[in-house]
Amino acid sequence: MTVKTPGELRNVVRGEVVAPGDAGYDEARKVHNGMIDKRPGVIVRVANAGDVMATVRYARDNDLALSVRGGGHSGPGFGTNDGGVVIDFSRMRGIRVDPSAQTARAECGATWGDFNAATHAFGLATTGGIISTTGIAGLTLGGGIGYLSRGLGLSLDNLLSADVVTADGRMLIASESENADLFWAIRGGGGNFGVCTSLEYKLHPVENVYWGPMFYEIEETENILKFYREYIKDAPEQMGAFPAFQIAPPLPFIPEDRHGDMFVAIVACWSGDPAEGERQFKAFHDLAEVKAEMVGPVPYPAINAAFDGLFPTGIRQYWKGNFVKELTDDAIAAHVRHGPKAPTVSSTMHLYPINGACHRVAPNATAFGHRDANFSMVILAASDNPDDDEDNTQWVRDYSDAVAPHSEVGGYVNFMDDDDNDRIRANYGGNFDRLVEIKRKYDPDNVFRINQNISP
Ligand SMILES: Cc1cc2nc3c(=O)[nH]c(=O)nc-3n(C[C@H](O)[C@H](O)[C@H](O)COP(=O)(O)OP(=O)(O)OC[C@H]3O[C@@H](n4cnc5c(N)ncnc54)[C@H](O)[C@@H]3O)c2cc1C
Repeated sequence: MTVKTPGELRNVVRGEVVAPGDAGYDEARKVHNGMIDKRPGVIVRVANAGDVMATVRYARDNDLALSVRGGGHSGPGFGTNDGGVVIDFSRMRGIRVDPSAQTARAECGATWGDFNAATHAFGLATTGGIISTTGIAGLTLGGGIGYLSRGLGLSLDNLLSADVVTADGRMLIASESENADLFWAIRGGGGNFGVCTSLEYKLHPVENVYWGPMFYEIEETENILKFYREYIKDAPEQMGAFPAFQIAPPLPFIPEDRHGDMFVAIVACWSGDPAEGERQFKAFHDLAEVKAEMVGPVPYPAINAAFDGLFPTGIRQYWKGNFVKELTDDAIAAHVRHGPKAPTVSSTMHLYPINGACHRVAPNATAFGHRDANFSMVILAASDNPDDDEDNTQWVRDYSDAVAPHSEVGGYVNFMDDDDNDRIRANYGGNFDRLVEIKRKYDPDNVFRINQNISP
């Protein structure tokens, strides 16, 4: 029997169904980016894979737009829509760690905070994002860049299998040995191929790390970036370090008279022996005078939450990103011109290194494009004041235009905004045509289209 209304859907799912007019609807329709203000026809807080299957069928049979929400961090707000259906995983965040096999299976509502806490209990971790509230699912299915990428690869390089509900409402296991084409496509192709209910990851011994941000005078930008491009080429792979622009927040490790000043920073994480951390950080300390820093040994999950305060739920955001092969002198000149103009304390440019282990995976082994890029750059403006939106968006666009001639045309799908849809082919490079083929097989009617869409 076809389910036709949210009321009927309530009878077939175990989880909570929230529709307009219900108590809690306004809370349930929110996503992380406060610029997004959409009103779905129904939000289903799924309780199990069966709920996901029923909700996919409901959306498909009634030809309704379907959004899938894990952590809700999508910049363009793909985790919601106007008038359609939202599958919300926030009630499904169970994680089971197998310490002897060094694997973890996590339900797709888990955040990196949930995941890291669960695996840290066993002295294990895998590559995740740098903010604890980001969802494991959206981040992994698009790529997954973080402090551990140089040593352990992208998050998706650590994916062993996934349970996937496809457009026809079936559930498939995707792994190297089952539905291998689907497994290939979801490792980079995001939510285009189905709704993952759980993901299984390879874990690695990472317990405590030596970590911290180091702030330098903004006039040192050229010097810092020129040092960094050489240093990161062959730095030990346990070193995850990226340069950033940062207005000094009012934190105790920064001299009070410098609060609000703009700095160039290096944020570094040494995931080898923490006792060696101080020696590994010497290069950053010798490079220029560090005006403020907060470095030392910390449990890995703690660094994942260190910047959460800068990105609270509801903050208004605009994003752009590019892959970068070489950080040329001209690119550095563009960073020197635009980076210091970052408009708010939550606005920044981060240049994440994706060499090392990320390069040891063949370019066509997963759908993630651009294995030959050395960096994934993100420019992000964020503020809680709607009056800032126009200027902030313009800053991101101007900066992005200035660095574009020195970058790849494509960028990391998880750093794209909703005006970047014309870049999808470029984002996937040589993997795009195979993605289209697999999309035609698993989702010929484009049921999963609210994403960086690969049109069938
Ligand atoms: C504050 C902040 C920090 C970030 N830091 C990093 C970082 O360090 N490294 C990094 O790589 N990226 C980072 N990102 C980008 C992040 O990877 C993307 O925003 C990603 O989409 C977030 O995943 P989510 O589950 O939280 O988002 P959601 O908005 O819930 O989902 C985004 C999209 O992912 C897909 N998706 C989500 N869940 C599923 C599922 N279960 N099955 C199928 N498809 C699904 C859907 O297409 C969905 O629309 C950050 C984003 C923010 C806002």
